[in-house]
Amino acid sequence: MNRRQFTTASALALAATRLPSFAQSQPPGKRVGFAAVGLGSISDIFMQACANSQSAKITALVTGHPSEKGSKYAAMYGIPKTSIYTYKQYERLADNKEVDAVYIGLPNSMHCEYTVRAARIGKHVLCEKPMAISSTECRTMIQECHTANVKLMIAYRVHYDPTWKQAMQIIDSGGIGELQSFQGGFFNQQRPGAWRLSRKLGGGGSVLDLGIYPLNAIRHLTREEPNNFTAVVSTRDFSGRFAEVEQSVEWTMKLPSGIIASCGCSYGQTAPGFLTINGDKGSLQFQPAFNYDGLHLFGRANDQEIDVLSTGKGAFQFTLEADHFADCIRHNKQPESPGEEGLKDMLAIEAIYGAAGTPIA
Ligand code: NAD
Repeated sequence: MNRRQFTTASALALAATRLPSFAQSQPPGKRVGFAAVGLGSISDIFMQACANSQSAKITALVTGHPSEKGSKYAAMYGIPKTSIYTYKQYERLADNKEVDAVYIGLPNSMHCEYTVRAARIGKHVLCEKPMAISSTECRTMIQECHTANVKLMIAYRVHYDPTWKQAMQIIDSGGIGELQSFQGGFFNQQRPGAWRLSRKLGGGGSVLDLGIYPLNAIRHLTREEPNNFTAVVSTRDFSGRFAEVEQSVEWTMKLPSGIIASCGCSYGQTAPGFLTINGDKGSLQFQPAFNYDGLHLFGRANDQEIDVLSTGKGAFQFTLEADHFADCIRHNKQPESPGEEGLKDMLAIEAIYGAAGTPIA
């Protein structure tokens, strides 16, 4: 029988290192205020997550549909009507003292513009992944946030899941020996006409949206940057759904230490997301690997069976993520997943599409 261990989704205990100017201006216990920008499916989850947070709160909404979606979410989260803005009114957030940061849940190609505009009005930025649609845009976002002295974090929610932290601990303590290889993938089905299938809005195919999960996990767990890529893209569905981006991608990459990885992703496959981590003394597997909850880590490490179920439910990863960014803002700390992390993923994504002969930038 496998030995089953359960983890608890404990909040990140991060101590303040110095007294920040922001904290001094905040009444004790006041939560960091976020404007949700774009009220689609991920913002819906982020708003639920903030409702469960002790340190983050939604205080404004930015939407193309102020009287429908805006009013609905304002009523749900107790936001005054005066704090609902259209995209054209975005700069008016500057005058809203309840807004410390923006959460950008827009299509990929809009991330850069709305980050830059937020920085220029002095608001911190929590931006969804992928950070943008090119490394040039990522560099612009980092530079603008630096110049404006605002924080920039990319929403890699998986980093904040305790199950992933446990895997990292096992690996770092040598539990599976020296790392040798990874296999990973993330897949879904996109409906015809979805913005993700538009090159203009998605910026490219499924590597930006789905392949980024195993890519980022491997970079995160090894703390190495892949530098040697092969890749193939393929489309078998000729209905027109994939007129602008490929259906599926498979790629390999090599890390400077010699670790090798083989990954895949697709907008037209039905399969579970997974990651296999192989060492010379054991191996770990995540399946599901990248879901919002219910992650399962299993395998053999330190000559023992590992079997861990993430017990957090619903939007809990997003709550931990929002708490972390709020803590960084309050205590003037660098986020665990800053803009530089998004840039490194984007450089690898460009290399993958370049290796496939279908460059995106
Ligand atoms: P969505 O389609 O559900 O929402 C997009 C929102 O942007 C909608 O409110 C839409 O009205 C608005 N919008 C404004 N201008 C638009 C335009 N020109 N075209 C289309 N929509 C426009 O998308 P989503 O699934 O919420 O994804 C948004 C972002 O969040 C993407 O960058 C995606 O990669 C990211 N995301 C992250 C996760 C995660 O787990 N971290 C999960 C899903 C999506």
